[in-house]
Amino acid sequence: MQIKCQFCAMPFALTNEQVMEAIALLKRDSHAHYDARCPKCRRVTKLARKAFALNPSTRKLLTA
Ligand SMILES: [Zn+2]
Repeated sequence: MQIKCQFCAMPFALTNEQVMEAIALLKRDSHAHYDARCPKCRRVTKLARKAFALNPSTRKLLTA
């Protein structure tokens, strides 16, 4: 899953393991955020449920 750093705008990918971790977190608590660390600036972009709900490749995982 491709995301973009909210600080430096660097596009980077979450691995499948990271996506599954995020989905598991959001299934436990739909108001939780997944912390995705930017490989360039090392800052954390918080991904809300919406980021996964809007992504066609992860949307189905949220409801599975
Ligand atoms: Zn960054």
